[in-house]
Amino acid sequence: MLKRAVIFLSLMSCVTCSGHGPSVFLSNENKPIYKSSKCDTDKPFPQMVLIPFFETASQIIPNCHTYPKHQTALAFFVFYHKWIEHFGDKDYAVRGMLEKIMVKWDTNKKISKKGFSLDGTPFKNHTIIGRVESKTIVWVWQGYDHKISQSALFHELVHMALRAKNGVADADHEGFKYRGWSLRHTNMIIESKQMLRAFNL
Ligand SMILES: [Zn+2]
Repeated sequence: MLKRAVIFLSLMSCVTCSGHGPSVFLSNENKPIYKSSKCDTDKPFPQMVLIPFFETASQIIPNCHTYPKHQTALAFFVFYHKWIEHFGDKDYAVRGMLEKIMVKWDTNKKISKKGFSLDGTPFKNHTIIGRVESKTIVWVWQGYDHKISQSALFHELVHMALRAKNGVADADHEGFKYRGWSLRHTNMIIESKQMLRAFNL
């Protein structure tokens, strides 16, 4: 527990030492809204819940277990920390993206008619575990072993961050059809997932 607290505190201080000032995500001015926006097992699913600390960011959840809002918020913190460490965010484009995004969690995978694998190879009729649906919406399967670190959340957030920065989400990843995604982005995702596992998420 203490170890987790120390990691979390160092994460927070690293976010604050990145030049964005001490309250980058933590002003939490919408606190009353966040309090009332919570999963309700007595109501029908899917439900929409706001993600605390991230302005109007939200998630559509298929049950209360997938995922509690503070777990998703922590995943966002980890993602942003790692993004800043690797790429910076001088124009706050990535921060702004995180403050508007909607994550649609799903307990089932999907079949995609076409897309690209990580190395840029095109595929047809392939099982997928995540997808960018619009400028502000990503669809994400819940992940192996029901863990956010084993879902495609960070992968989809990189697409969204690239879109926010360059205007293009770079659908073919490390391939050369679209520009933006590099090996550094792939590595950043691996590091982010490792960091999230420290919180058992
Ligand atoms: Zn992708």
